[in-house]
Amino acid sequence: MGTTYDLQKMSRRLARYLDEDRYTHTQGVRYTAAAMAMAHGADMMKAQVAGLLHDCAKCIPAKKKLKLCERENIFMSPYEKKNPFMLHAKLGAYLAREKYDVEDEEILSAIVWHTTGRPHMSLLEKIIFIADYIEPNRCKAPNLEDIRRLAFVDLDTCTYRILEDTLDYLKTNPKDIDGMTQDAFNYYRNIYERRELEAEEDE
Ligand code: FE
Ligand code: FE
Repeated sequence: MGTTYDLQKMSRRLARYLDEDRYTHTQGVRYTAAAMAMAHGADMMKAQVAGLLHDCAKCIPAKKKLKLCERENIFMSPYEKKNPFMLHAKLGAYLAREKYDVEDEEILSAIVWHTTGRPHMSLLEKIIFIADYIEPNRCKAPNLEDIRRLAFVDLDTCTYRILEDTLDYLKTNPKDIDGMTQDAFNYYRNIYERRELEAEEDE
C-alpha cells in the first residue's frame, strides 16, 4: 500500500492560499486526474495529490516568486526570470515538499512539469499535464472536445495535440516560448508520426 494523504486537510489549506477561481480549477484537476488514473491504471491517490497541489504556488505575487527561488537556490532560466508566473511549477513542488509533507518524487515531478511538459513524461506527469488542460472549468482552448476524449483513450496523442495547440497559441503572442515546451512537442510529434507510419505499413 502506498502512502495515504489527508486530501481534505490539503484542500482546506489550499483554500487559504488560492483565490476562488484557482481553487475551483484545482479541484477540477484533482477529479479529472483521478478519473484519468482510473482509465489508465495509475495510482489514484498520487493523481489526486498532484492534482490538488500542482498550482499551490500560483497565487504568490511575481516578486515573491523570484525572491523565494533565489533564497531556496531554485534554478531559474532566463525565460522564467522574464516570465515569473512560469516559476509556480517549480515553487509548487518546493511547497508541496516543505509545507504539505509530500516526499513522493513521482508526485513532485508531475508538479514541476505540469506547465511546459517535457519529453518522455511518466504516466503521472502526462495525467497532470493533460488534466490541467481539460478539467471541466476550462473552456477557451480550441479542439477541447477532441482532446478531452483522447485523454481517456491515448495519452501520447493527447499530449501531442495539447502541445501543438499550446505552441500555436504562444506563437500568436509575440512572446518567446519556453524551450522545454518545444522539446516536448518535437518528442510527442515524433511518437505520433512514427505510429501513423506503422499503421500505414500494416494496412
Ligand atoms: Fe499551473
Ligand atoms: Fe493549473
